Amino acid sequence: MATSFNPTPRTLMGPGPSDVHPRILSALGRPTIGHLDPEFVAMMDEVKGLLQYAFQTKNELTIAVSAPGSAGMETCFVNLIEAGDNVIVCQNGVFGGRMKENVERLGATAIMVEDDWGKAVDVAKVEAALKATDNVKAVCFVHAETSTGAISDAKAICELAHQHGAVTIVDAVTSLGGSELRVDDWGIDAIYSGTQKCLSCVPGISPVSFNERAVEIIKNRKTKVQSWFLDLNLVMGYWGGEGKRAYHHTAPVNALYALHESLVMLEEEGLENAWKRHQDNHNALKAGIEAMGLEFIVDEASRLPQLNAVTIPEGVDEAAVRSTLLNQFNLEIGAGLGALAGKVWRIGLMGYSSRAENILLCLGALDAVLTDMGAKINSGAAISAAQAKMK
Ligand SMILES: *Cc1c(COP(=O)(O)O)cnc(C)c1O
Repeated sequence: MATSFNPTPRTLMGPGPSDVHPRILSALGRPTIGHLDPEFVAMMDEVKGLLQYAFQTKNELTIAVSAPGSAGMETCFVNLIEAGDNVIVCQNGVFGGRMKENVERLGATAIMVEDDWGKAVDVAKVEAALKATDNVKAVCFVHAETSTGAISDAKAICELAHQHGAVTIVDAVTSLGGSELRVDDWGIDAIYSGTQKCLSCVPGISPVSFNERAVEIIKNRKTKVQSWFLDLNLVMGYWGGEGKRAYHHTAPVNALYALHESLVMLEEEGLENAWKRHQDNHNALKAGIEAMGLEFIVDEASRLPQLNAVTIPEGVDEAAVRSTLLNQFNLEIGAGLGALAGKVWRIGLMGYSSRAENILLCLGALDAVLTDMGAKINSGAAISAAQAKMK
């Protein structure tokens, strides 16, 4: 007979999910109430306001899609893009490739702007693609590429897109709450994120936001949105506030308590303080990683603080290192994805995982495991180098 599932507590320092704060886990266990209960409806309104703060937007259509980040991505594409549209898709890692899939499955044309994995999106290439293509409906890019650890200049890309009459669709799954992000100031038209990265909430919800320009496009579509579940014309009624609420689907009630708690915590900390904490902790990890003799694959200027792609010492079985970290230290770090598979480890410092004690655990564990395997590293140097940055 099966028994209750009790996972071993781990420290999560991969590409997501990140460690969930105990306050958020305890919010998840509060009594389930009806999703049309006035108390719940009031909480959903608060979630909306808190998301507006996190995204730095006044957009009325700022909501949480009841499904993971990938569903937030599809929400943007199925609502804004129609068959026959020209869409510029920037790809510098795994997630840009998924945007291309979305565009093509909708019968639209994806015009690719490609950059090497580990580099930021090249703004000059985006400009060239805009000049070379007529009637570009949208420009899409990943703000923080979790597969490589590179951040791109969202403000510059949005400005260019607007000069050419195109709207922008931005993936902020890993940047929200971890890196500077200003939806209104930067002119982002449609954006999606996730809960399990820098918000340190449980996985399974996707915050999204659309400005008036995007809403106009959705309202003036020639064809019906192919997805019933993600059709914002219907979802908008659901998030309409008390009295206006029309049943669409049963909200993930307890998961939304958790999201609410994580956003309350973000507001308590202050968004800019959260961005700074991610940067400071990256600086400490970096000191330790470099003292050990490992390198970052992303140039400092476009390096994400919350996702650190570091090189693997020669001759080391990288998968064996990860499984030893997991089994002996209960520590999860990420493997390389796609073009970087087998070439890097991805160390996440996202949300509640971005803490001094985690950095020391990770550096100490990595040092011990690599030294034990006879890898060519500077053994014993990492911890004190990181500590020096923590003063
Ligand atoms: C994690 C991630 C996603 C997908 O989110 P899921 O919640 O796993 O569906 C999309 N884009 C980026 C940049 C991500 O890091």
